[in-house]
Amino acid sequence: MPMFVDQAAITVIAGKGGNGAVAFHREKYVAAGGPDGGDGGRGGSIILQTDDSMSTLMDFRYKRKYSAQPGADGQGGLRSGKDGADLVIRVPRGTLVRDKETGAVIVDMSGSEPFVLAKGGRGGWGNKHFATPTRQAPRFAKPGMAGQRREVLLELKLLADVGLVGFPNVGKSTLLSMVSKAHPKIADYHFTTLYPNLGVVWAGEGMSFVLADIPGIIEGAAEGAGLGHDFLRHIERCRLLIHVVDVSGREGRDPVEDFKAIREELRQYSADLAGRPEIVAANKCDIVQDEGSLERFKAYIEEQGLPLFMISAATGQGLRELVKAAAGELAHLPPIPVFEAEYVEPEAAPGTVEELKIFQPEKGLWSVEGPWLERLLERVNLSDIEGRMYFERSLRQGGVYDRLEELGIREGDTVSIYDLEFEYRR
Ligand code: GDP
Ligand code: MG
Repeated sequence: MPMFVDQAAITVIAGKGGNGAVAFHREKYVAAGGPDGGDGGRGGSIILQTDDSMSTLMDFRYKRKYSAQPGADGQGGLRSGKDGADLVIRVPRGTLVRDKETGAVIVDMSGSEPFVLAKGGRGGWGNKHFATPTRQAPRFAKPGMAGQRREVLLELKLLADVGLVGFPNVGKSTLLSMVSKAHPKIADYHFTTLYPNLGVVWAGEGMSFVLADIPGIIEGAAEGAGLGHDFLRHIERCRLLIHVVDVSGREGRDPVEDFKAIREELRQYSADLAGRPEIVAANKCDIVQDEGSLERFKAYIEEQGLPLFMISAATGQGLRELVKAAAGELAHLPPIPVFEAEYVEPEAAPGTVEELKIFQPEKGLWSVEGPWLERLLERVNLSDIEGRMYFERSLRQGGVYDRLEELGIREGDTVSIYDLEFEYRR
């Protein structure tokens, strides 16, 4: 059986923009045509989209690197290069995406909106863009910009209203299969469930909820001793817990001890989780062997002030009441929590002038290129004043103006940085 995977680290690389073309219009009997090099196409972006048919991050264990298509280069005859196709990555609903380095949440894929995780690079301009009355035959074009690259952690935190907790074999999967259309594996041995299972429970008109069967909470799970620890993260978002206890006494277990052990696991994992509203389901009432221990259990739960339901997942006894009570609780509980994005794009720090390529494609025109400039341009908003000032400051700090001076730039010359052009002023 494939292992359940609920965490994965992947690298996504958006497509590079296509290069602009250097070309000149050619026609029979026409000696020299004007520039007609087209622009490069935009690189494809990496887009995340939820897919409700997925319930694990298994796919990401085998494929860890995702690249979108680059944009095509521009061509003569003013033909632009084709944009690269976006790459859509499908993830199960409830996948949390974090920055690998800082752990900060980039996005919680709980809604249905697609999310652009890495932006494709802009295409470079063809030489047609650089034609001016005084520069009629530009022999240069711009390269496409690199696509964004990100290292991220995917973490699945299922979205369910109600989570079933309890020792293995107490009847959680049976309960889920009885109250919903889900078909979890049921067997008479421990650790049967390696995947969390979700089912929709109908509790009356406009009163359905999602129930999750979370496998294998066992003693020591909170310390990572068993499977349970990994699975506990899935109930973090549940609004309500149904704590299932086997009260039959068939395996020689004491229901009060079992109940306490699970409570302790929850408490150790997170105080928040331990404080979640809880309903107790005393299961296997159809085969109770030790009436005395059942009575002690009832008294104990009553003492705790928790709602208690006597059920048999096998015969269906008490299930309707349990479902009704759960729906009733949910009606006045807050909605499933969604994680706020906390990741802040670091400011693109200027690099050094040594990392840049500065050249003079024509007299009076200075071209500056380099990866840190690409990153800067990708992030800065040049349509607002703050953005322009930041850009200006970065160029200065990066030593771009000093180097241009050394190379002999003159007042009124043109500085050209990718798809940006401005006149040089001292
Ligand atoms: P889980 O590990 O908590 O998911 O437990 P399962 O749902 O897989 O059930 C474990 C075993 O207990 C299976 O053999 C079930 O048929 C049996 N079982 C579950 N609920 C009941 C019940 O109410 N009465 C009886 N007699 N057996 C049950
Ligand atoms: Mg099970």
